[in-house]
Amino acid sequence: MPCYRCGARQTDPVRGASPWQRGVRDESQVLICPDCQRLHDHDLDSCSTCGSTTLIRRLGEVECRSCGAVRMARTDTLTVSVPPPPGLSAEVEAALNRVLGRA
Ligand SMILES: [Zn+2]
Ligand SMILES: [Zn+2]
Repeated sequence: MPCYRCGARQTDPVRGASPWQRGVRDESQVLICPDCQRLHDHDLDSCSTCGSTTLIRRLGEVECRSCGAVRMARTDTLTVSVPPPPGLSAEVEAALNRVLGRA
């Protein structure tokens, strides 16, 4: 998975922990490269319990790596359908009526 911000590819660290940061943004798991970590405008989701942004996205839930709090993922925001603007269909209908001579 590349850096969500600059698209850089993760390289394997020689040893020890990866310098890449994991986080959750808009309910999606993201990786942040060491360069982008220096910029502090990531807009990451944060833990509602401790405020940490070291979150892990799992199936249906998000876990805080800092304090262990687990919350349900907001999957409902992905299924909201947007209805068409109310004025449009009436306008189309009126235009059709004019064309068909029914006005
Ligand atoms: Zn980056
Ligand atoms: Zn936490």
